[in-house]
Amino acid sequence: MEIKFSFEEREIQKSVRKFVKNDLLPICREVDETGFLPDRVRDRLLSMGLLRVSFPEAWGGVGGTFTGLVIALKQLSYATLVPAWMLFENFMLAYPLLTYGSDALKSAYLGPLLSLERIGAFAFTEADTGSDPIQLKTTAQKVSGGWLINGSKRFITHSSICDHLILFAKTGDSVSAFLVQSDREGYRAGKRESFIHARGFDNGDLYLEDYMAPDTHLIGRVGQGFDILLRTETLGKIAFCALFVGIAERALDLAVTYASTRCHRGKPIGARFQMTQVKLARMLTKTEAMKAYLFHVCALVDQGKDVFMEAAALKLFVAGEIKEITSDAMEIHGAYGLSMEYDIAGLYQKAISAQVVMGSLDIQRVIVAKGALSLLP
Ligand SMILES: Cc1cc2nc3c(=O)[nH]c(=O)nc-3n(C[C@H](O)[C@H](O)[C@H](O)COP(=O)(O)OP(=O)(O)OC[C@H]3O[C@@H](n4cnc5c(N)ncnc54)[C@H](O)[C@@H]3O)c2cc1C
Repeated sequence: MEIKFSFEEREIQKSVRKFVKNDLLPICREVDETGFLPDRVRDRLLSMGLLRVSFPEAWGGVGGTFTGLVIALKQLSYATLVPAWMLFENFMLAYPLLTYGSDALKSAYLGPLLSLERIGAFAFTEADTGSDPIQLKTTAQKVSGGWLINGSKRFITHSSICDHLILFAKTGDSVSAFLVQSDREGYRAGKRESFIHARGFDNGDLYLEDYMAPDTHLIGRVGQGFDILLRTETLGKIAFCALFVGIAERALDLAVTYASTRCHRGKPIGARFQMTQVKLARMLTKTEAMKAYLFHVCALVDQGKDVFMEAAALKLFVAGEIKEITSDAMEIHGAYGLSMEYDIAGLYQKAISAQVVMGSLDIQRVIVAKGALSLLP
């Protein structure tokens, strides 16, 4: 299926595809395992300036489209999630800074975030909730000259390696968003998680102990945190889905290669067994549908449309399909599919995370159903 991209978007696609083939695919297992890119590859990624794509020139971007960024994320995650996740986390801080931050915050923080020289993070989830802002326990108390923040966060990607993060805290009855710096007194990273889908990832607890955020580090207005959260997560969900479309394309390619080379009675299983063909056909159809849906929603974003419901529907769709696509690919590989020697096992593990990260599926169902019933505000 052909999706109509602009000249600039096609150029991004071409250059990232080349980077993936030459630099990432040969080392993708090692990168998945450690969570880090070798310096040479990291430098190359930084030199491509991919996160600049969807940000305005006035703030260090190149004034391209959101579609352009999503193309890059999809291509990168064909090989490994690590570089895509670097871009994604920085986006989750850079976007609310651009949209709600003061000019002073933008000029101080956006440049190094967009160039990936600084590492960003997004801290909403706490031990008791990753879904409900009302239940947040971290508080920001107004004091002379700023805000005293106390509490803890859980499952925060880049909690121990980030330089800056956006952190959501209760300000009385409402929620507000703050720019937090990890090198300031009162910030402490805690226990690190080890997930089945991403062993090398930096993700864990963080603690705020009398952390003093100056007044100038409030992002948006007091009480605007919920709006900032929803708007950032809406684009975040779309960017997040791009990672799984990349994984789907890889799973399909691996399955096709395996089905074309594994022989039974002298004939490749793809040619010999109709049941293998059924799985390949199902995988291809679902992958193409995911891709079309992803770039349809991206096009709406670039047209300035509100995509709150569409982003939830996309996540619902992608999270369901990717599980089946990777499961089919694994089944085609027989016992080799379960072996960590083959890349397909890693893709199957990564697929599971689509249903939890960036909002549970039940919440997406609620949003979509409310949209269908015209009950969204
Ligand atoms: C790899 C990974 C990386 C992550 N990175 C980050 C990060 O960088 N920053 C961050 O802030 N968080 C991060 N998270 C946390 C993640 O976003 C949350 O785990 C997720 O939003 C779910 O929250 P929870 O685990 O608290 O589940 P809960 O909110 O406790 O939900 C539990 C169950 O109840 C259901 N439920 C909850 N509320 C409702 C409702 N209103 N209606 C219907 N059903 C409901 C859910 O669907 C789910 O099935 C990460 C998680 C993982 C696994």
